[in-house]
Amino acid sequence: MKQDKIRGCLVAGAIGDALGYPVEFLKYKQIQREYGPEGIDSFDIDYRTKKAVISDDTQMTLFTAEGILNAVSDGGDITEHIYQAYLDWLYTQNERGDHPNVCKLLERKELYARRAPGITCLNALESGDMGTLTHSLNNSKGCGGIMRVAPLGLFSSQIDLKEAILLGARAAAITHSHPLGYIPSGFLSGLVYVLINQELSLKDAIEETRVIVNEIFCENDYINDLDRLVRRAVSYTENEQNDLQNLKNLGEGWVGEEALAAALYCALKYEHDFDKAITVSVNHDGDTDSTGAVTGNILGCIVGYDNISSKWKTNLECEDLIVDMADKLFMCRKESL
Ligand SMILES: [Mg+2]
Repeated sequence: MKQDKIRGCLVAGAIGDALGYPVEFLKYKQIQREYGPEGIDSFDIDYRTKKAVISDDTQMTLFTAEGILNAVSDGGDITEHIYQAYLDWLYTQNERGDHPNVCKLLERKELYARRAPGITCLNALESGDMGTLTHSLNNSKGCGGIMRVAPLGLFSSQIDLKEAILLGARAAAITHSHPLGYIPSGFLSGLVYVLINQELSLKDAIEETRVIVNEIFCENDYINDLDRLVRRAVSYTENEQNDLQNLKNLGEGWVGEEALAAALYCALKYEHDFDKAITVSVNHDGDTDSTGAVTGNILGCIVGYDNISSKWKTNLECEDLIVDMADKLFMCRKESL
């Protein structure tokens, strides 16, 4: 059961990413022109790979997961291991320079593909300096942090919610130094942790996570802005406005807090209709692969892998690899750090 949810989290994240990637830089009107009045609601298969390709969101999520696995097997600081794994990811993007060479993922040829990687991630990793919650590299609050941290909520039942939140925030702060680049990331890893480890409704899980995030970051200047937006996303699920307008009002996902808000909205409003949630999450003017990926991460924990329609799973690039990584994270839960 937990194994199925963990698979669901990563595979559904990749589904949202792959569905949203072809329309990442299109306005909704352009999406409609290209895919019809309902927008994009099935995979746009890449003619070369014959797959729905994943973007940097899923690539980096896989490297986050392998960083965790390396920490579990070798010991040492999880965030430091994730940083090393990201340097290996960087190598897949530019294929030059020294890199730690600690990830088995480097053996997968499909991952050597640039799918509009975030400039902040590239620049931060190329700097040779590792960002932390107290060591700032830049002022970025792009959604490049939140779209890759879901595995930090999956690998352990031994840590508590506070630690799951902090691990997600620290993994994002490796490249994104603005608090709204890393606090929403902590929110996501915390929410995933609650959904996997507790039997709560999504609404209650969001509330539990919100309270602890507010507690941890109570002295941060931006925590009230984030809290307001999270509460707004939840309340919008009950208003009369259409989804497009609601997503517009939540900010469309280009930055961390907006990506979180859009995903919370889509997942909560369509908690019992995965296809609808994932489709709504990628049909708007904003950063569609990331809002799709984060929506998938959240809802995948609820719906589980087996209940996701095979139409999404069969043509998904690297699906076997993503399932394998989820299973390895599941196995980690039996080992102690
Ligand atoms: Mg992307």
